[in-house]
Amino acid sequence: MPTICDVRVCQPITANSPGDWRTSIGQILVAIEAIDGTIGYGVGGGGLAGMHVIDSVLKGLLLDRDSEPVEEHWSRLSKAVLPFGPEGIAMMALSGVDLALWDLRGKCNQKSVAQILNPDVQIPQSIPTYQTVWESVPPEIAEATTGVKLHLGAGGSSNLSGPAFVDSLVQRVEQAREAIGKNRPLMVDAWMTWNLETTLEFSTRVESFNLEWIEEPLPLTDTAGYETLSRQCTIPIAGGEHIFTAHNFQEIIDRRLHSILQPDVCWVGGMTELVKIYARACEAQLRVIPHRGAELWSLHAIAALDNQPLAESGRPWMNWVGGQPEIVDGVIQLPNRPGFGVEIDQALFHASTTKRL
Ligand SMILES: [Mg+2]
Repeated sequence: MPTICDVRVCQPITANSPGDWRTSIGQILVAIEAIDGTIGYGVGGGGLAGMHVIDSVLKGLLLDRDSEPVEEHWSRLSKAVLPFGPEGIAMMALSGVDLALWDLRGKCNQKSVAQILNPDVQIPQSIPTYQTVWESVPPEIAEATTGVKLHLGAGGSSNLSGPAFVDSLVQRVEQAREAIGKNRPLMVDAWMTWNLETTLEFSTRVESFNLEWIEEPLPLTDTAGYETLSRQCTIPIAGGEHIFTAHNFQEIIDRRLHSILQPDVCWVGGMTELVKIYARACEAQLRVIPHRGAELWSLHAIAALDNQPLAESGRPWMNWVGGQPEIVDGVIQLPNRPGFGVEIDQALFHASTTKRL
C-alpha cells in the first residue's frame, strides 16, 4: 500500500453552524495523502486544539509510513496522546485521522468501507432512520414516517429537577406522541442534565407513551446512578456519544449500564474503535445505534455490522461533506463508492471561512 506523504487538517465552518462547542470544539476535516496521489478524508473533533494535536503530534507519526496497517497506526497514535488526552479533544482529533486512514484503505482497495468491514454486505442498502428534534415536533416531521427523538435536556432552564420540571417533561412527551401518532418510535434525550430521582419519576409517568429509550439521563460520571437505573427503570437507557474508546465502553457493557450503545465514530476513536465496540456489544447482546449514524462515517458500519440497522439523522450544517446521501421517505441508501464515498472540495483547506494549519 502507498506511503503517506502529507497530513492536512482544517476546520470548515458554515453559516448555519451552531454558536456553541459543536462548532468551536467540533468538526475538523482531516486529509491524508498517499504518494500515489490518493487522498483519504475523515472528520474528527476538537476544533483548533484538535488540529494542533494532529499537526504537532500525530502527523509526524504517520509521514513516510505505509498507509495500510490502520489498526497499528491507531495503537501507536493512541499511545502518543496518552500523557495529555486519552479521552476528549485528543481522541476526537485521532478519530478524524483514523477515519481518513480507513477512507484511504477503501480507496486503495477499490472497495467501500462497508465492503472491507463485511465482504457480504448488501450494497446498495436502505437503512431506516430516526429524526432528532428539539423543543417540539415540527410539522414536516409530524407528517413523516420515521421514529422521532425529542431533546429534553436543553431549553435554558436552570431548575432541572422537582415536580414542576417532571410535569413539563411529561407534557412535552405527550405532545410529541400526539403529533406523530401512537405507532411511530418515540425516544427522548436528556443530554446528561437530569438526576436519578427525576429519571425514575419521569419513566413512571410516561409509561403509557411507549418510549423506546431514554438517552443520557444522568451525567457521565454517575455510574452508580446508571447502575440503579439499569435495575429499576422500566424504559431502556441509551448513551455513549460522550464516551471515548472501546476500552471505556467495556465497563458500560460489562456492568450493563446502558441497554443501547451510541458511540460517535468521529469522537470515540474512529472506525477502528467502532468495530471493536460492535464486536463486544454483539457478544453481550446489546444494541448499537451510533450517534448521528446517518452521516457516512458511521453509515458504513451500520450497514456492514448491524443486524438491526437504525441511523440517527445527521448534522444539517455539515454540508461541506459532499456525497452525503439524503434521507428519503425515512430511509437512507448506503452508496457504493470506494472508501466512505465522501467528496471534499480541496478549496476548504484554503478558504477564508476555514481555520487551518
Ligand atoms: Mg444524544
